[in-house]
Amino acid sequence: MECPQCQFPVKAGAKYCGRCGAPLDRLCPRCQTLNPANYHFCHECGAPLDQEAKGTAEGKLELPDALMKLLPANEVVRVIILVSEPTDMEEQAAWSRLTAEQFFTGYSEADAVYDSI
Ligand SMILES: [Zn+2]
Ligand SMILES: [Zn+2]
Repeated sequence: MECPQCQFPVKAGAKYCGRCGAPLDRLCPRCQTLNPANYHFCHECGAPLDQEAKGTAEGKLELPDALMKLLPANEVVRVIILVSEPTDMEEQAAWSRLTAEQFFTGYSEADAVYDSI
């Protein structure tokens, strides 16, 4: 079994990746059964686990038909939206470098008084 996010080999039955911490089990939206991360359909009830909603040009959410079939008609449902953010490692590194630089330039002689306390 591999981590779907970083391809790190993880032990069977593991719930989180040991390298990047990505969750490895997927909760079925219909019956709440935990499924292995590489399953595309729930092994308990057959509901599709891969559901991606698209944002339309009008700013509305478009849900896939497979998901719409699971939703009760004319009922209020709660939808949890996970936005995939770009994980730009270079940007991350630049950001931590910037904060470190700001920290050290902000350290003036006047702050040195705290060292003697
Ligand atoms: Zn991982
Ligand atoms: Zn299910």
